[in-house]
Amino acid sequence: MIRGRKYFTRICAVSILWVFALFLISGCGGKKGAGNTPKNPPSLEETLKKGIKPNELGMVMMIEYHWFGENESEYTRSYENFKKDLETLYRKGYRLVSFSHLMSGKMNIPAGTTPVVLSFDDSTESQFRYIEEGGKIRIDSECAIGIMMEFCAKNQDFGFTGIFNILRSLFEQPKYVRRKLKYLKSKGFEFGNHTEHHYALAKLTPTEIKKEIALPIERMMKIDPTLRFVTLCLPYNSVPESTDILFKGSYGKTRYSYKYVIGTGGTPFYPVYHYKNPGKIIPRVLAVDYDPEDGSGYKGSDYWIKYFDKHPELRFISDGDPDTICAPAYMKYRLNASGIPKGSRFVGY
Ligand SMILES: [Zn+2]
Repeated sequence: MIRGRKYFTRICAVSILWVFALFLISGCGGKKGAGNTPKNPPSLEETLKKGIKPNELGMVMMIEYHWFGENESEYTRSYENFKKDLETLYRKGYRLVSFSHLMSGKMNIPAGTTPVVLSFDDSTESQFRYIEEGGKIRIDSECAIGIMMEFCAKNQDFGFTGIFNILRSLFEQPKYVRRKLKYLKSKGFEFGNHTEHHYALAKLTPTEIKKEIALPIERMMKIDPTLRFVTLCLPYNSVPESTDILFKGSYGKTRYSYKYVIGTGGTPFYPVYHYKNPGKIIPRVLAVDYDPEDGSGYKGSDYWIKYFDKHPELRFISDGDPDTICAPAYMKYRLNASGIPKGSRFVGY
């Protein structure tokens, strides 16, 4: 069947429009922060036929970053290693999700993939830097957000999201504070309250703790009343004796309430509906390479990624359906009924 050139041109134009539209829907601007989950989730039969063995009672990870720089050192991830981290996670089937998405217990990511949350503490300039060039302002390609943007544009099903645990420094470029927060919010990134002075909370009185939590909220409200902290991130993983005030309290006119708090701890964790779920303080693993020779980087991100390579049966694998908790049938007894999200049901195989 021979068609005219006009027809061909029209088909091309329509295709280009479609590709563009798909980019807009699923690309870097995607708010869900996860890959291209089909509207109609695949049936379990289809998924199993493809050789995918869902395990939504497996473990998930939150990775913790602080500074970025040319050279790797304690608490500084080199730009090169950050790029390598993104590539490794993507290649091994991890997909970026937001903290709220992960803690909702309803994973909306493609079958066969594993959710992971990237968290960035201390709001440093190396995480998000604008540069001025020829009268124009752009995001520096050598900062965490710049690197993620570039990687996401090439690998759109990876997702483009994470959580920034904010300090007063607010990314260290005062004139761009509003612009940066607005940008991150518009892309579906979330914010965590990392307290006012980054003190070890265990050393403070209850009133001081409440003040440490309330002041950043007041500041954020002044910058933009639509901005919210979705959680509290503990400086130095320091947990006060009475943990109640971490989750709910008030100071002056400012009230706060958090369902979960982010800590450290060096371990992945089980989902909210697993009987071994971590409770309300969520652990993270530090972004660092593991060297089995000298033991450096033990229980860091690289260690755990390799651990899951060796023990794939312990890793969370999505079935592509956010409304089911799918796992081998014998795992059913591992469910913690009170953590099962509304509308979810267990599907064993
Ligand atoms: Zn910190």
